[in-house]
Amino acid sequence: MALEESSRAAVAIVGGGAVGSAIAYFLTADPDFTGRCVVVERDPTYETASTTLSCASIRQQFSTPENVAIGLFGADFLRRMPDLLEVDGDRPDPQFRENGYLFLAGAEGVPILEDNNRIQRAGGADITLLSADDLKARYPWMNTDDLAGASLGMANEGWFDPSLVLNAFKRKARDQGAEYIKAEARLLRKGARVVGVRLGSGETILADTVVNAAGPHAGALCRAADIDLPVEPRTRTVFVLKCREKLNPPPPLTIDHTGVYLRPEGDAFLSGVNPPADREPETSALEPDWSLFEDIIWPSLANRIPAFESLKLERAWAGHYDMNPVDHNGILGPHPEAPGLMLANGFSGHGLQQSPAVGRAISELILSGGYRTLDLSRFAYDRFARGDLILERNVV
Ligand SMILES: Cc1cc2nc3c(=O)[nH]c(=O)nc-3n(C[C@H](O)[C@H](O)[C@H](O)COP(=O)(O)OP(=O)(O)OC[C@H]3O[C@@H](n4cnc5c(N)ncnc54)[C@H](O)[C@@H]3O)c2cc1C
Repeated sequence: MALEESSRAAVAIVGGGAVGSAIAYFLTADPDFTGRCVVVERDPTYETASTTLSCASIRQQFSTPENVAIGLFGADFLRRMPDLLEVDGDRPDPQFRENGYLFLAGAEGVPILEDNNRIQRAGGADITLLSADDLKARYPWMNTDDLAGASLGMANEGWFDPSLVLNAFKRKARDQGAEYIKAEARLLRKGARVVGVRLGSGETILADTVVNAAGPHAGALCRAADIDLPVEPRTRTVFVLKCREKLNPPPPLTIDHTGVYLRPEGDAFLSGVNPPADREPETSALEPDWSLFEDIIWPSLANRIPAFESLKLERAWAGHYDMNPVDHNGILGPHPEAPGLMLANGFSGHGLQQSPAVGRAISELILSGGYRTLDLSRFAYDRFARGDLILERNVV
């Protein structure tokens, strides 16, 4: 198809998950944006999207100051969501359960918690350090014998409903004029420049800016156009558990020093762990890795919470992390070797909570060429070439 037969847009976003839809929302909410904004999404059911398969939790317990600030903005946005994303009197409630994250540590982990705590408090996050005795007093159901301390979020951390947040962004973006198109998109290049997208139908949309918001498939989208981007899908399994005994008080989102996490979900619990590096599951089918439960999760949970000796595994699901294997952090802003292409990728398991801040940040870059609120320039792609990696210590 000749380029002349194409339609035009100011911005074409590939991927209408939480990140793509948040970008579409912030862009179309800005009175300075008057152009056409198109979101190309190949599967509007979002059956295999990272967003809908997520554990949908939000924290400020990071070791990178920008991630702390992003987390604070995200929590504030969740609280204001019914007002901000209201359409026709429908006020979306993200069901934010502000129950905190609890990072547990053995003796060797306490200095790291203390270092992180300084960064988090300096960024305005309400995170407190606990001793093993504090833990036992707060959570009598917990075995603290092998623990030396912990770090607990007192506000702004917890979990929410991922589909609700995605749909709220999408509905508001559409209400403000964003167009969603169901199609597979490929990047269209003219020389080095990305000039638009080609849809599965053969139709092309020429765009001043193309945003890569393809989640775990962002690397593949770029590779098909001969552009490098270190983002790949990594399969992660979430197990749904029930325990006969009631834990009182209920646990926050708890991360054991083994790396196993646990959080309440209704009358059940969600749990998971990052697989050891030599046991990364293959990524083509979204199949739960059941062996992780027997080998790592159950022993770890039974040690931490004796009542979990008799837990019941109800079911499990698998989703893809949008993994940046280089430094496990988002990659944001223009691609230095492909003018016209804007990146919003590689969040490595924390992209949903970051979607409000990323949506705002990318819309600022598109509208004014720079960050106007939170300076996220350290997340630029060229950090890899400079060797200026952002090594996050708290990867869950
Ligand atoms: C098990 C699990 C637990 C997680 N837990 C958390 C958590 O607790 N907190 C948190 O913040 N994050 C968590 N995450 C990560 C989070 O879900 C992701 O970082 C985030 O959802 C990424 O959003 P996205 O919009 O970029 O990607 P997605 O939601 O995957 O959306 C990308 C969309 O792009 C579409 N697409 C891809 N390629 C193309 C193409 N070529 N053409 C058209 N459309 C295309 C896809 O169909 C998809 O709908 C978790 C992820 C998993 C898998």
